[in-house]
Amino acid sequence: MSERQRTPMAHTTVVIGAGFAGLGAAARLRAAGIEDVVVLERSDRVGGTWRDNTYPGAACDIPSLLYSYSFAQNPQWSRTYAGSDEILAYVESIADDFGVRDLIRFDTEVTSLTFDEPSGEWTVEVAKGKSLRARSVIVASGPLSNSSWPSIPGLDTYEGHKIHSARWDHDFDPRGKRIGVVGTGASAVQIIPELVKEAEFVKVFQRTPGWVMPRMDTRRPDWTKALFAKAPPVQTAARQAWFWGHEAMALGLVWNSPVTSLVQQVSRAHLRRQVKDPWMRRQLTPDFRAGCKRMLMSSDYYPALQADNCKLFTWPIATMSPAGIRTSDGVEHVLDAVVFATGYDISKQGSPIPVHGRDGRSLDDEWSGGVYAYKSASVSGYPNLFLTFGPNSGPGHNSALVYMEEQIEYAVHGVRAIVEDDLAVLDVRPEVQDAYNARMQERLSRTTWNSGCRSWYLTPDGFNGTMYPGFATQFARQMRSFRLTDYERRPITSPVNVT
Ligand SMILES: Cc1cc2nc3c(=O)[nH]c(=O)nc-3n(C[C@H](O)[C@H](O)[C@H](O)COP(=O)(O)OP(=O)(O)OC[C@H]3O[C@@H](n4cnc5c(N)ncnc54)[C@H](O)[C@@H]3O)c2cc1C
Repeated sequence: MSERQRTPMAHTTVVIGAGFAGLGAAARLRAAGIEDVVVLERSDRVGGTWRDNTYPGAACDIPSLLYSYSFAQNPQWSRTYAGSDEILAYVESIADDFGVRDLIRFDTEVTSLTFDEPSGEWTVEVAKGKSLRARSVIVASGPLSNSSWPSIPGLDTYEGHKIHSARWDHDFDPRGKRIGVVGTGASAVQIIPELVKEAEFVKVFQRTPGWVMPRMDTRRPDWTKALFAKAPPVQTAARQAWFWGHEAMALGLVWNSPVTSLVQQVSRAHLRRQVKDPWMRRQLTPDFRAGCKRMLMSSDYYPALQADNCKLFTWPIATMSPAGIRTSDGVEHVLDAVVFATGYDISKQGSPIPVHGRDGRSLDDEWSGGVYAYKSASVSGYPNLFLTFGPNSGPGHNSALVYMEEQIEYAVHGVRAIVEDDLAVLDVRPEVQDAYNARMQERLSRTTWNSGCRSWYLTPDGFNGTMYPGFATQFARQMRSFRLTDYERRPITSPVNVT
């Protein structure tokens, strides 16, 4: 038996990542009176997704009034769906307006976390420099922060310009170039219309077509900006209108229901209206239920595909050659540049950072078959640790920031409990976590995501640890009740068995 000892230099909270979630968490911790917060960011700038995704046409596909924090509303959004520059400026403004910038240590990559039972503290190892100690940790490293290259044979042999959508090369001038685009997901449908405007030609290599809904993007009139600035409740009402509009979409996009067929009809009508050629329409018609993969939002993708300098190819890519791409029909496509809009390395299995919890357990091992948590935020055996965008918190129909805000408030609640009750351990009970996940998986079985398609939401064997099976309102309700009885709590003063 030993007395718990707190390290004098332990911070109250270390936050990992300075994207939307990390900055939001730091801002809300400060608002709750938690001052001793350090934000560790591996890059040299805040912004996460919106710092990294600067490809032509990059924009949100949830209206900006809703794709923003309710505690940091911006009346000045220039369009319904703001572009990445403007979103990045908004993220920067959160760092400044909420006094968070001074808390950030840039160029500091977290390499591991280890829980120390006697002190109830986490040791946070970083790639360069001294490790830190913290009484609590918020992991806000983002689910989509590592770009993923496809495993195409011969990828390295290609001698032209290779660009990943999430790390755009701004020195690359597409004018007059012969460009291939690999992938037809959410980033591709934004990039292709922009490239088609300038390139000599664009060849689009599609594996699976997605469901595309029209995107009504308009410039916001100045009078609405002035009105929202003068009367914030009007902006809140507009945000609420967008929220409930998206919430209704859950009926078709989350649950596999008759409303899903209605969504498909709207999407098919969009395709029919924009694509007249029946053969092309057939190539662009998905063979899975709407919602099963991420919905695409675009009104200029189909027109771009039919431009004189653009062509869609559906033969699988066999290999890359020094000159370009060879498809399995034997054709070699000679290309000056290939854009890979192939998404992200998403940790559906294993842990993004090595995390060692109580009794030496490893999160990487525990999550090897798929990720799980309690309310997406806590994992049993890893006390005083909170996740944002954690397991089963992905929305299929509403703004990620609505979910993120709830997770942040949950984490702040936990940190406050640790501080106010002087806890060494706040650890969700395993039986509570198991019961929660049994319910999650039972509910997921009725969703569009589990209706049979192959998507990045699922592990290869079909386990869904990514999406939340319900309305955003249900998610909010569960996050707003922080039940201390769900957690094992041990004050710092009580003795501990050290093994
Ligand atoms: C292109 C794109 C468009 C999107 N559009 C929408 C949309 O329209 N609507 C919507 O609801 N959602 C959208 N999303 C999803 C989601 O809203 C965003 O990804 C959002 O930015 C996530 O914020 P985050 O802070 O969780 O993660 P990120 O923005 O990825 O930030 C994580 C930060 O953590 C840092 N980091 C990672 N690992 C470490 C480490 N080990 N040590 C230190 N720092 C680390 C990263 O450098 C990064 O700065 C989009 C995602 C992408 C990729």
